[in-house]
Amino acid sequence: MEAACSRFNSGVQTVLTEKLYWRDMYLHEFDGTVVSIEGNRVILDQTAFYPRGGGLVSDTGKLGGAMVTEVIKENEDVIHLVDHPELLKVGVVVHGSIDWDKRYEVMKMHTTAHILCAIVNRETGALITGNQINPGESRIDFNLESFDRERISDYTKAANDVVVRGLEVKSYFMNREEALRMPGLVKLANALPPSVDVLRIVQIGDVDTQADGGVHVGNTREIGEIVIDKAENKGKNNRRLYFSLKRTAASSQPTSS
Ligand SMILES: [Zn+2]
Repeated sequence: MEAACSRFNSGVQTVLTEKLYWRDMYLHEFDGTVVSIEGNRVILDQTAFYPRGGGLVSDTGKLGGAMVTEVIKENEDVIHLVDHPELLKVGVVVHGSIDWDKRYEVMKMHTTAHILCAIVNRETGALITGNQINPGESRIDFNLESFDRERISDYTKAANDVVVRGLEVKSYFMNREEALRMPGLVKLANALPPSVDVLRIVQIGDVDTQADGGVHVGNTREIGEIVIDKAENKGKNNRRLYFSLKRTAASSQPTSS
């Protein structure tokens, strides 16, 4: 875990924001010190706001009296785009609160995407060519020639079986070298730039292990019920699956807060 510090790079100061969302994905209220304000771009020494990336939408919420409309990542900086930067001041501690309903939905959707990808990959060997994780409805693209109705219903059932098993979702950091020795991770780890020497690993029980920077639920049962809304052809060898989630009794019980 990187510590909050700053470094100078070609005369331009960049800040390494401590990413609290990696330490605790359920953290939605926190305090941070403002280290930089440029126009509507605000950087803190630490943040629980997840920036847009990896197909996931960014968090929104509040920073002091200002609204955070979007959060982006540039190098190792997490940049909060706010509506009223004049309400914030460099060097001053500010309270941040994340729109939790939206974030929690994104966490559920993201873990669901990993489960579906693992199942489709296991059954067909297909790889993921893109994904968009939103609250409400999400989608995944696979490099597949066909997706018949019957198979989709089999995948949905297998994914919901994983949800009901209540598997723990763990995240941890690992040296690149070590990760390269794990069979399932080799391809992903190789795809990452060589400059990345510590990888964050997300493991969903015995179903899926990936190098991944995104936010997830702590237990698969929080997901509820996975519903595949439709499958679309997006050109040759590209099939897109749309999915949404239904609440169940188990899905309203976060594992931590
Ligand atoms: Zn992911």
